[in-house]
Amino acid sequence: MAQHQKKISRIGIYTSGGDAPGMNAAIRAVVRVAHSMNIEVMGISQGYIGLIENRVAPLNIRDVANIIQRGGTILKTGRSTDFHKPEVRARSIETLKTHNIDGLICVGGDGSFRGAHALWNEHKIPIVGIPGTIDNDIFGSDLTIGFDTAVNTALDAIDKIRDTADSHDRVFIVEVMGRNSGFIACHVGLAGGAEEIFVPDGNTNIEKSIDRIKDSIKKGKRSSILITAEGQKPGRAYDLADAIRKKSGIDPKICILGHIQRGGSPTSVDRVLASRMGAAAIDNLSKGFCDILIGSDGPNLLQVPFELATTKEKRSPLEYVQLSQILAI
Ligand code: ADP
Repeated sequence: MAQHQKKISRIGIYTSGGDAPGMNAAIRAVVRVAHSMNIEVMGISQGYIGLIENRVAPLNIRDVANIIQRGGTILKTGRSTDFHKPEVRARSIETLKTHNIDGLICVGGDGSFRGAHALWNEHKIPIVGIPGTIDNDIFGSDLTIGFDTAVNTALDAIDKIRDTADSHDRVFIVEVMGRNSGFIACHVGLAGGAEEIFVPDGNTNIEKSIDRIKDSIKKGKRSSILITAEGQKPGRAYDLADAIRKKSGIDPKICILGHIQRGGSPTSVDRVLASRMGAAAIDNLSKGFCDILIGSDGPNLLQVPFELATTKEKRSPLEYVQLSQILAI
């Protein structure tokens, strides 16, 4: 783990990549804990875009009033392909010099942490990360901010879909978010009593799934809910439905939950996690630790080097897939 020698008097905070419910709670915690340590906070808007384009304004303790319960991010978020270029990163450092910013806190996912790691490697900017992504795909942290809210939002929708699936004796395929990570799918599937869960890093065997669905119909089951993670791009549910139609007489209905999973008021789990991680981030930065993110391990918070978090893959809990099948008899 890296250490810096700077005395931290003023920091910058930004939210980057996909937004996640609870990012605001993290911003609030950073601003208010920093205040208690006599550290000033500057808000950088739209992630790395704001850093490149000097979109910076002071964030004081009243600016973060009444946001703990709000989804999205008051700092806005953004994606910048330009930031992949070393020369653009070098230019962005001028923004930090202009505002006398000694260190940064980055709230985001693995892409954002790659950018942060590059800033430390190339320019020795001390940065601490806070994992904010609904995908829960950050290696080294068992939970990320926004995941619990997204799972509960998806679960609420699935409970509703089950009502109509049951009334019409239908098979439904529900596609949840998560890109290449199957965390949302596994949690939602197990919690929602799904008959099958399809995850990108699992071994999808469509024939066996169809056999199990047919078998359950023979045993008197009239409706089923199948959960799929979106994979590389949304729409995987359509491919699955086509395959099921071709190989069986079943005509599944499709529901793609999409961006509703990103929004909404964060759950208490996400608000508490965000508050604790926010406090730990500013504490670590002020004590000279950097090039790390704050991870969670059950009740404990940990320092996870960016290098580790951005090079290792966090596998989906595939045991949930098997357990769901056993429970769905
Ligand atoms: P997330 O942080 O949610 O994973 P992205 O993958 O979109 O979201 O990353 C957010 C931003 O981080 C990107 O738009 C880009 O500006 C920056 N970024 C991502 N990967 C790198 C990289 N390898 N080098 C420098 N910056 C990166």
